[in-house]
Amino acid sequence: QFFWRLAGKEREAEKMLRIKQRERVYGDASLTAVSTSSQAQDEFDRNVPRICGVCGDKATGFHFNAMTCEGCKGFFRRSMKRKASFTCPFNGNCTITKDNRRHCQACRLKRCVDIGMMKEFILTDEEVQRKKDLIQKRKDEEAMKEAQRPRLTEEQQNIIALLVEAHHKTYDDSYSDFSRFRPPVREGPVTRSASRAASLHSLSDASSDSFSHSPDSGDSKMNLGSLLMMYQEQGSSPDSADDENSRLSMLPHLADLVSYSIQKVIGFAKMIPGFRDLTAEDQIALLKSSAIEVIMLRSNQSFSLEDMSWSCGGPDFKYCVNDVTKAGHTLELLEPLVKFQVGLKKLNLHEEEHVLLMAICLLSPDRPGIQDHAKVEVLQDRLSEILQAYIRINHPGGRLLYAKMIQKLADLRSLNEEHSKQYRSLSFQPEHSMQLTPLVLEVFGGQVT
Ligand SMILES: [Zn+2]
Ligand SMILES: [Zn+2]
Repeated sequence: QFFWRLAGKEREAEKMLRIKQRERVYGDASLTAVSTSSQAQDEFDRNVPRICGVCGDKATGFHFNAMTCEGCKGFFRRSMKRKASFTCPFNGNCTITKDNRRHCQACRLKRCVDIGMMKEFILTDEEVQRKKDLIQKRKDEEAMKEAQRPRLTEEQQNIIALLVEAHHKTYDDSYSDFSRFRPPVREGPVTRSASRAASLHSLSDASSDSFSHSPDSGDSKMNLGSLLMMYQEQGSSPDSADDENSRLSMLPHLADLVSYSIQKVIGFAKMIPGFRDLTAEDQIALLKSSAIEVIMLRSNQSFSLEDMSWSCGGPDFKYCVNDVTKAGHTLELLEPLVKFQVGLKKLNLHEEEHVLLMAICLLSPDRPGIQDHAKVEVLQDRLSEILQAYIRINHPGGRLLYAKMIQKLADLRSLNEEHSKQYRSLSFQPEHSMQLTPLVLEVFGGQVT
């Protein structure tokens, strides 16, 4: 006799309620039955005593709605499938234990039902097959997705690896060569230096604070604006501004630094796949017009948002805006340059993206004096494609990153223009141009038109 046949409507309703409750807890009732001893469920039921509710043996999880051992789970399923009817040889209230559970099937089954096991939780063979098919289908779909996932081609991966290597060979993180440059001289009246240092410090505090709150440079504008004002005030201050301006104490050191950087940029360019296949004239034209932009890009590696300066080793080689003004540049260049550095830094580029951006910058076909425009464009397009693919595949959340990087290239054009302007006026003064190196004079000198 089946116990649930004896059970009244009320008991039936109670059972369904319990199914519903379990569905709510585990999501899908049929899933519960399939993954009876799944790990997730074990985790979930950690607090429930892991003892079979039927026989007291070690339980393996919930089976057909009750915590049981594998033996009682199998017994219940077999009994239900066979629609077996058992009769107790004793008086119908045998105590079921691990050792005697085989002795009285009737009482064992009764115990199963009493602790809540339900045939509704047993899947039919077709259901089992459907479930298996579904799992297989999901696996197949997963495998197909994996196969269709965009991937960098081997050639693209090689190019990235070459560029990263080229950068490592031409960018020394230790900045150990800087001590060979003519030494930096940061002279000027003590009181003014001190007050500048103080204002720069408070400025950097304020800016680093605002950067962490606003991802876009709305707030930093104000800081850079105040930076601009601060220097204008100092510029018009009565004490020896002209004198200091004519000395340009940082010029020898920074001229050597720029000259050194140009050499490194040339080294990097030569290792960009395809660059050496261009004519010598086109290589030179590309380098002359992009060198300062690539220097600005690569210097971002040493730029620090905390103090808005370029830190290249010890305190001697830590350059703030003030230092660069002592090499003849004004805030008309330095204000947008710092803003550029801040914006670029906040893109948090991967090294792969950083080197690709430098290579793309170098291979711009629209530079003045380029003869084989098409050939340069092919090289640049290939790099742009790699960059876009790289971002899509490897930079989660980088949906807009490519566009932002291209915007940085546009910013570099106007920085380049302002730099040329300031460089020209500097180079017209012999006492200053004599401090420059032959390489700087050659690269920044005669503009290709
Ligand atoms: Zn058991
Ligand atoms: Zn019995």
